[in-house]
Amino acid sequence: MSDVMVDVRGVHKSFGPLEVLRGVDLRVRAGEVTVVLGPSGSGKSTLLRTINHLEKVNRGWISIDGELIGYRRSGNRLHELKEKDVLKQRTHIGFVFQNFNLFPHLTVLDNLVEAPVAALRRPRKEAVGTARRLLARVGLADKADAYPRQLSGGQQQRVAIARALALEPKVLLFDEPTSALDPELVGEVLDVIKDLARTGTTMIVVTHEIGFAREVADTVVFMDGGVVVEQGPPSAVLDKPQHERTRAFLSKVL
Ligand code: ADP
Ligand code: MG
Repeated sequence: MSDVMVDVRGVHKSFGPLEVLRGVDLRVRAGEVTVVLGPSGSGKSTLLRTINHLEKVNRGWISIDGELIGYRRSGNRLHELKEKDVLKQRTHIGFVFQNFNLFPHLTVLDNLVEAPVAALRRPRKEAVGTARRLLARVGLADKADAYPRQLSGGQQQRVAIARALALEPKVLLFDEPTSALDPELVGEVLDVIKDLARTGTTMIVVTHEIGFAREVADTVVFMDGGVVVEQGPPSAVLDKPQHERTRAFLSKVL
């Protein structure tokens, strides 16, 4: 596949004696949405964190748009990149967390402007223009001067998504983006993600929202015990799961 955007090959990750990822393979094509499902503790967050090198891998490798993440190859050895180069790579990988992680002391607008100016050296005026356009896109044009604490959880998460987009990432990673929200606020955040899916943003979304997966995912990946148990289109994995562990999980969440 020539249009693979995210390539995860044979990734192993341990924390001390605990092997959390036990050989994960995953390929995400440009413009596609992959939804990752799996029980708590199956390694979903750790997988996302290895993709932007918040965690080092013990074995295997990850590339985005053909570029190794966190390492450079020399002969058949991998050498870890310097922190500065890792940070540069990370600007291409948007990450949206369960708990929003906005900068509380900055206005909504400045939350979106900070990284493009500091990390990408964009002129502030240009970054402000982009930020306003993105806030309009997530329906929050009127909140530019508010502080995060003045917003609902759903609004904060929409700001977090706009902030991630401000760096024009090659891929957006979402770790349970609606799990911390009151039920009535889940829909507005999923609607923003759906809109991104329609416009061809490459995304990996960890979520328990099965309806969302069915509607939006090109590929559903079911993880358990640090491995990908099965993957395929939603119609296969959700409606005709091949593995007992997938069936057992779906029977609990559906
Ligand atoms: P999930 O997101 O699927 O719930 P995680 O990737 O968060 O799973 O965690 C998988 C396992 O790894 C869990 O047993 C968790 O306790 C453990 N784990 C995650 N991060 C760390 C860490 N930094 N140190 C030690 N153990 C960790
Ligand atoms: Mg998790």
